[in-house]
Amino acid sequence: MSMRAITTVPPGGGVKLSEVNEEKGDGIRVRTFRTGICGTDKEIAAGKLSFARPEIGNSLIIGHEAVGVVTESNGNYEFKEGDIVVPMVRRPGSCRMCRLGRQDYCEDGEFVEAGIRGKNGFMRDEFTEDPRFLVRVENKSIQDLAVLTEPLKNVMKMKEIFQFLRMRIPWYCEDSTLSCKNMYVFGTGTEGLLISIVFKTLGLNVIEVNRHPLDENVMNYLERNKIDYLDTSSEGIDKKVKDKPMDAAIDAVGSMDVLREITDNIRNNGIAIMFGTSGQLPSSNFDVLENLVDRNLTIAGSVDGAKAHYSDAVKFIETHGKVMEMDKLITGTYEPDNLKIFMEKEKQEIKKVIAWS
Ligand SMILES: [Zn+2]
Repeated sequence: MSMRAITTVPPGGGVKLSEVNEEKGDGIRVRTFRTGICGTDKEIAAGKLSFARPEIGNSLIIGHEAVGVVTESNGNYEFKEGDIVVPMVRRPGSCRMCRLGRQDYCEDGEFVEAGIRGKNGFMRDEFTEDPRFLVRVENKSIQDLAVLTEPLKNVMKMKEIFQFLRMRIPWYCEDSTLSCKNMYVFGTGTEGLLISIVFKTLGLNVIEVNRHPLDENVMNYLERNKIDYLDTSSEGIDKKVKDKPMDAAIDAVGSMDVLREITDNIRNNGIAIMFGTSGQLPSSNFDVLENLVDRNLTIAGSVDGAKAHYSDAVKFIETHGKVMEMDKLITGTYEPDNLKIFMEKEKQEIKKVIAWS
């Protein structure tokens, strides 16, 4: 038996809809429901992700954001037919952190990532999965939104890091809330928007920063969620921080210029979390370093998330999905054979998803 899968030959790029053999094994059989497309998938398709590599042979099934339905539990007690599940992306190597289930803090880089490096992904009709790497979605009404679990779990880890870092001093307002604190979020893609709504729920004032005028749908989305925004092509960030001082910042862009903007403008005792990567090399960064040291800035890098963060993400969607109109983040649903969606950016695009069943 064969099935449909979106494959590439890494790291050369290009994607095609292929017929591949069904996977046999004693794991949980999952029928794919939706897969999300993110910047990483587009980079793989464009041949720009140098670390993309196949699991076996020379072809890789892509896709790492997914939600599916269990069709066969193969004697595993934890899952039953009909369960809605989200698969994890990163799979452990053999280092101590990986053995502890914290492959998001892998010490030696010997992990694999489904749909990215060393493991086939989820852009296919069905896959067989080790139950340790599946997270259940109990509330079936969020089945569509659960495709956002994977990008959202990154934010859950950022939130955990943020909560930990702010504890070093009494980093809160007179009334013990965070309502006097301003957080700047750089980047208005899916990840940036997810960061904004999650930190908004912590009670911070959130300001979204973009280098270009924002799409109307993004602007409306932010306004409805009471998130402020700044287009730095029309107003300088230095001016904005006079009105709303930068207490914290999260970067989802990945450029040295953003780190510079943060360290130049953030207040003393500020907290910054860097998530974006773009392969851009740092230039002269001595002043940045001096800023960090003299002003007690805390900058943390954050990548991926643990299984607990996937569960937190599912809970966040259950609790806030409707109120924060997370369905508005999904701006297009496409058939698997519509491969041009990997190359083109639609007008007002936020998150595009592929419907498999
Ligand atoms: Zn490891």
